Amino acid sequence: MHAPVVPDRSIDAYASVTERDRLERLRSLAEALSDVQILHVSSTATGGGVAELLRSIVPVCNDLGIDTDWLVMDADDDFFEVTKAVHNGLQGNGEPLTDEMKATYREETARNAAEIEDEYDLVVAHDPQPLGMLERLEERLPDAPIVWRCHVDLSDPVDEYRAFLSAYADRIDHGIFSRSAYAAAIDVPKTSIVYPSIDPVTEKNRSLDEEELATERDRLDPLSFDAPVVTQVSRFDPWKDQFGTLEAYRSAQRNVPELQLALAGGMAGDDPEGLRLYEQVADEAVDDPDVHVLADLPDTTVNALQRLSDVVVQKSLREGFGLVVSEALWKRTPVVGSTVGGIPLQIEDGRNGYLVEPDDAAAASDRIVTLLEDDECRTQFGVNAREHVRKRFLLPRQLVDLLEIFVEILEYDN
Ligand code: UDP
Repeated sequence: MHAPVVPDRSIDAYASVTERDRLERLRSLAEALSDVQILHVSSTATGGGVAELLRSIVPVCNDLGIDTDWLVMDADDDFFEVTKAVHNGLQGNGEPLTDEMKATYREETARNAAEIEDEYDLVVAHDPQPLGMLERLEERLPDAPIVWRCHVDLSDPVDEYRAFLSAYADRIDHGIFSRSAYAAAIDVPKTSIVYPSIDPVTEKNRSLDEEELATERDRLDPLSFDAPVVTQVSRFDPWKDQFGTLEAYRSAQRNVPELQLALAGGMAGDDPEGLRLYEQVADEAVDDPDVHVLADLPDTTVNALQRLSDVVVQKSLREGFGLVVSEALWKRTPVVGSTVGGIPLQIEDGRNGYLVEPDDAAAASDRIVTLLEDDECRTQFGVNAREHVRKRFLLPRQLVDLLEIFVEILEYDN
């Protein structure tokens, strides 16, 4: 296990985007947790939504006076092949889970758990990767309640993987899910629903001035913002359906011939499937100079891309929440997204973007064209989008929700 370096954060930085009551509530919850040590465990420090969330939650909690550590599992690709299969199986598409895969999972999680030495009052395990550590953690920290924070879309898991999950249910005191529809997949004593959030002060989401935008435009060349641009920012992962987005773009291009598509993606450290899919997507797009497949962009460039694009698309087939949707909406860019996972929580159909069925590339194409052909509509949707995210999906709101749960768990426990 290792502790990733996280940026400094001050809660004061959120005063301009958050109601004063909310910040006061946060401070009083933090006061109640001032003598508590909390450990977050996850499987990667970079790439994907969980890393994005923890890079903000952990330093802000420390700034608020809550002693919070974050440890990331160390494992090789064999382990991450298994956990990616678990992730896929829980989202409804599983290869068989063999005894060998289970053994790899048990060995690696036990080895990681054995490396935790400090004392903690509460442990928060994120997603399925660390679940195998819980038995050992229970023995080591018998008084520390265990929270499982699940970010995965559990609406329709494959039975074999549901059973895999259930084997750990006894060790979990409290499950936190991103939507109520996910909580039924595992029987734990207590569940809560907490919507994730984006952090408005990070490099990814802060405002950029004209000079910074000009620099990023140059960096993104030959993608040109003098012609319409549709963008999807996602890990290269079959659930993100980059091929469906390509299909929607090709169809939209018949109405908007100068249209360009940017498919920006990263490889998460715990996702060995990423490189394979990146190559397939790049291959599919190789003959079209208007399709730009961009890998591992710096955060400032992702920020500019989401900001400068005319429309952002998120054509996922499954999606735990989909932080990228709020990231784009926060930057006043309308989003066309599918009706899966957390996307409908973020897109208000006809107000800040459009919702389409996940397998309906033609509908996505129609909505993209509608938006591209109506500048006024895009501007109004952008205004609505910013306010929707400001009210519901910024970090301080999520922190209040989480800390309320932590206080409740620890009070109940004492
Ligand atoms: N991301 C990024 N660069 C990329 C692709 C993704 O920085 O090339 C970030 C994206 O901005 C977002 C996170 O990774 O913050 C993805 O989170 P989301 O919840 O959308 O999906 P997940 O990857 O967790 O399934």
